[in-house]
Amino acid sequence: MHPQRLKNRLDYPLKKADSYVLYWMQQSQRMENNFALAHAAKAANALSLPLRVVFCVAESFPEANARHYAFLLEGLKSLTASFKRMGADFRVEIGAFEDVVARHMEKAALFVMDKAYLCELQKVRDRLVEHAESLSLRVDEVESELIVPVEVASDKVEYAARTIRPKILKRLEEFSEEASIPALRVRRPFNPGLVELPMEETIKKLNVDKTMKKSFYFHGGEKEAQRMLAEFLEERLADYHESADPGEYFTSKLSPYLHFGHISPLSIRAAVEERLTERDVPPHAAEAFLEQLIVRRGLAFNFVYYHEGYDEFEKMTLPWAYETMERHLEDEREHLYTLADYEKEKDETHDEYFNAAMREMKRTGHMHNTLRMYWAKQIIRWSSDYKEAYETILCLNNKYFLDGRDPNTYAGIAWCFGRHDQGFEERPVFGKLRPMVARGLKRKFDIERYVAYAKRL
Ligand SMILES: Cc1cc2nc3c(=O)[nH]c(=O)nc-3n(C[C@H](O)[C@H](O)[C@H](O)COP(=O)(O)OP(=O)(O)OC[C@H]3O[C@@H](n4cnc5c(N)ncnc54)[C@H](O)[C@@H]3O)c2cc1C
Repeated sequence: MHPQRLKNRLDYPLKKADSYVLYWMQQSQRMENNFALAHAAKAANALSLPLRVVFCVAESFPEANARHYAFLLEGLKSLTASFKRMGADFRVEIGAFEDVVARHMEKAALFVMDKAYLCELQKVRDRLVEHAESLSLRVDEVESELIVPVEVASDKVEYAARTIRPKILKRLEEFSEEASIPALRVRRPFNPGLVELPMEETIKKLNVDKTMKKSFYFHGGEKEAQRMLAEFLEERLADYHESADPGEYFTSKLSPYLHFGHISPLSIRAAVEERLTERDVPPHAAEAFLEQLIVRRGLAFNFVYYHEGYDEFEKMTLPWAYETMERHLEDEREHLYTLADYEKEKDETHDEYFNAAMREMKRTGHMHNTLRMYWAKQIIRWSSDYKEAYETILCLNNKYFLDGRDPNTYAGIAWCFGRHDQGFEERPVFGKLRPMVARGLKRKFDIERYVAYAKRL
């Protein structure tokens, strides 16, 4: 493992007399290319101790609902089988992160956790480090969700893709080594209570919105992620450079799996490079895909990591964008809708492209990138003010999308308000923000085909 993936948060000597090495799994919910798991397993072997892996199913999580939890629990089911094979002492418990994890820290020889990027999840880790201090427990934090770790790529808020791209690409090869998880020297018998994680029973116990339906399209877990990747490589990667057209839908649909850590960008990149050696994939198609996966995604992680207030309307974008919104606040809106209108069961707006996008979102938990931009831009046009628009977009995004509450969420929405973008010719309501209207979709894409696709969902 590249040493810069690891941050020692508390440097106490390892407590050899204690009973296990503890890995708290949260961000990277997988076995493959999980550097935190590999690090914890190696440490357990070095100390001749068993490895305990704790997964805490948070009783409630801001904005998460039964759809997200169903996906998460599907992932846990596949992990349970993997940990059984590995001989790790895998514990799944419902509760608050701090309570559950802190309890397991009491007897640990070493505490390993994966790195978080969003502010709230970083704070949970800070509180656990404080608790470890009181136990004189060594804490190692390991990063697996980016190929080039966020602090290695840059030490400040980056302005745009063009400013972060050379920084990431310069270090990319250095961080391409894959994680190797050793066989455990001390194996623990499997906890049979975990074999069947009863999904419905578990969800009933949680304090979350249970009215949201599970996605019929996406199923969580490492195996499913690999299946989706294989399907993408086989059927769509070769045409990815044309993936802006929602009618064709050449994108990977891997974002829910990336969000839950069911797959790593490192594994995806390696699989793409391997596929590239076959003649039917043009290099520019693979390059276009890796630009999104590595550079755009890296920019989003940079944004949430370094920009305080990335999730607040008043702080998330740039001065020129606030100025233009201020000037156009009183512009007449052609149509006005509220969050309640968008939440109605039926496709209610006057715009069939927007309705199709909403249908995809509500039914599957996903939306094509071009439509995400269009969808958010129309909410900006049809809200009585920009703050209301921001809050409506964020609320719908995080409620319905399986990949919601991700760094890409906050960067994607802020982009619609000018962040990482440039000013355009001034026009009503949008001001200098990049405009997007139905005419553009019709001119550039086979949008009717997308509408037909959404109707079938
Ligand atoms: C208003 C708005 C809201 C968005 N909300 C989310 C969200 O909640 N969660 C989320 O993961 N993405 C979000 N995005 C970014 C992007 O739309 C999705 O990542 C992408 O559509 C996911 O589909 P895919 O996996 O098929 O992408 P592909 O095109 O196959 O791309 C592969 C991967 O690259 C990354 N990627 C692709 N496009 C972008 C982008 N523009 N910015 C950053 N990374 C990107 C994603 O991790 C994606 O899974 C949002 C964009 C906008 C404009």
